[in-house]
This record gives sequence, structure tokens and C-alpha cells, in this order.
Amino acid sequence: MRAYLPAYDLRAPDTLNEAVSVLAAAPGAWRPFAGGTDLMVQLESGALPEGRYLGLWKIRELRGIRETSAGVEIGALTPYSELLASDVLGREYPLLGHAARETGGVATQNRGTIGGNIANASPAADTPPALLVYDAEVELISVRGNRRVPYDAFHRGYKKMDLAPDELIARVRLPKRVPEWREHYRKVGTRKAQAISKVCLAGALKLDTPGGAVADVRIALGSVAPTVVRARSAEAAIRGQRLEPAVIEAAVRALAQDIAPIDDIRSTARYRLSVAQRLLRQWLQQVAPQ
Ligand SMILES: Cc1cc2nc3c(=O)[nH]c(=O)nc-3n(C[C@H](O)[C@H](O)[C@H](O)COP(=O)(O)OP(=O)(O)OC[C@H]3O[C@@H](n4cnc5c(N)ncnc54)[C@H](O)[C@@H]3O)c2cc1C
Repeated sequence: MRAYLPAYDLRAPDTLNEAVSVLAAAPGAWRPFAGGTDLMVQLESGALPEGRYLGLWKIRELRGIRETSAGVEIGALTPYSELLASDVLGREYPLLGHAARETGGVATQNRGTIGGNIANASPAADTPPALLVYDAEVELISVRGNRRVPYDAFHRGYKKMDLAPDELIARVRLPKRVPEWREHYRKVGTRKAQAISKVCLAGALKLDTPGGAVADVRIALGSVAPTVVRARSAEAAIRGQRLEPAVIEAAVRALAQDIAPIDDIRSTARYRLSVAQRLLRQWLQQVAPQ
């Protein structure tokens, strides 16, 4: 370990009230620490700044999955293994289970949390495309109260979020689903497990009648822009249309306007654009009436 541990301070409150009070007393001085699966990698490599960390692991109010009349609430501290075990998520929001299953290995799934995945703000994170497709809302908490932000507006740029220094992510809210949506999730990485995405696509669409036109659609991608993105041009190309080959190709071309992939250590911009377009084409061809 390249970090000098005595230079780190960890406070681990039992309650949410206590946690937000600590943040409010010195905004920006304390860094939340949830499952630590992102932070411990930084600590190990010597890249985690010395300073004060606020352990969230003991705060039960931040945990768990709850059905409400409006949909489902997922506590920020809920680990992937609980997302995978949840009946309501498996039944109503299957893309989250897909994302959780493709995240790291079992150890990471037992410890890594959905709130940490969001707040780490990596454009390559695997739950955010599913959250975009489900029109999720993020609920933030501080001593000033709670506020809700549509997930679509939460990431403001690379590693920039609508999250004040005295706020924590408390939970994620997913609105109720209607059953007719056809859903799809596909992650492409270097290998099947323990790989960060090169491209990740989540989608949901609803036909107005079986074999009819697309009544509504959501397409979201990871690893192809500074943040996870909704592919609104591609969505517009198919909304209201029957999924004929020419319409599918128009959506595939339009997708190039929605994303801004880059070259980095995991892949190239050219490969990412090509794979993103193939993933979209494959999915739409599967859904298209034969
Ligand atoms: C071996 C390995 C494999 C991995 N594979 C994947 C993968 O396939 N896909 C993927 O998406 N990720 C992957 N990750 C990354 C990581 O596991 C996830 O991003 C995880 O969800 C982070 O959650 P955490 O609770 O561990 O976050 P932490 O490491 O505790 O924190 C991450 C960031 O979020 C902030 N934070 C945490 N909780 C809150 C909160 N409630 N409010 C405000 N800020 C908060 C912290 O301050 C920190 O900046 C992998 C990590 C490892 C080590």
C-alpha cells in the first residue's frame, strides 16, 4: 500500500442525521466513503488524497429497496448483490439486474453500492445507462433538507455533478413501469467479467400495437462521452415509425450525433462508435416485426 494510513481520518456515524451534520460543519472537508471499491483502488495506488473520510457503511437508512405507490426507491448504500436478489427489480426493472450482474466479481458486487457508482461519476459505469432508461431521479440530502434531481440532469460534465459539498446521495427513485416495454442491455468489454466497459447500451421501447410503430423509446449509452448519455437523436429517428430497415439505419446514423467517443487505454473512438452503432442495430432488428 503506497498511502500512509495515519494521514487519513475516518469517521463512521450510525445515523444519517449525524452524517449530514458532519458534512455541514465543514463542507467539502469530508469525502463520503461507501463500499470503498473505487476509493480503495485509489488508496492502494497512492492516488487518494490524504484527509477526512466519512464512512457510510453503518447507516441503515441509506440501505434497501422499497416499493412505493409511485415506483421503487433504492437506498444509495444498497450493494449490487441486493439489487440482484430483489424480486421487484428482477420483475419490473430487469436492466438494473443485468448491469449489477456485469459489474466486477462477487466481492465487488457484495461491497460496491449504487450510490458509489453514481457519485464516482465514471462515464464507463454500468448502472447509469439503465437508470437513464428508467427515468430515474436522484434524491440528495443535507441539513438543508432533501431535493430531487432527474438523473438525466445530474451529471454535468466529466466527473461534474449536481451535488453540493454538504450533500449525500440518499436514494434513487424509479417511476412505475408499464409492462409493454421491450428492454435490452448489452455491455462490451475486453472479457466477460471484471472488465470496464468499452461500450455499454441500455434501451427500452414500446410499440403502439404488436408489429406497429414505436410509441416511445429510451436509449442510453456508457463509455462513449464525458458522461453517460441519452441518445436523443437516435430516439427521434424511430419514435412514431415502424421499425423498417431504412428507419433502423437512420437511427444508427443519428446515433453518431449523440455520442462523442474518445481514444483511451481501453479502446479507440472509431471502435467505440462502430460498436455502439452495431449494438443499436442488433437490438432494433431483434425488436422489429419479422
Ligand atoms: C475489481 C473491480 C471491478 C469493478 N468493476 C466495475 C464494473 O464492471 N462496472 C462498474 O460500473 N464499476 C466497476 N467497479 C467500480 C466500483 O465497484 C463501482 O463504481 C461501485 O459501485 C462503487 O461503489 P462504492 O460503494 O464502492 O463507492 P466508494 O468507493 O465508496 O465511493 C466512490 C465515490 O462515490 C462517492 N460516494 C459514495 N457514496 C456516496 C453517497 N451516498 N453520496 C455521495 N457520494 C458518495 C465517494 O465519495 C467516492 O467519490 C469495479 C471496481 C473494482 C475494484
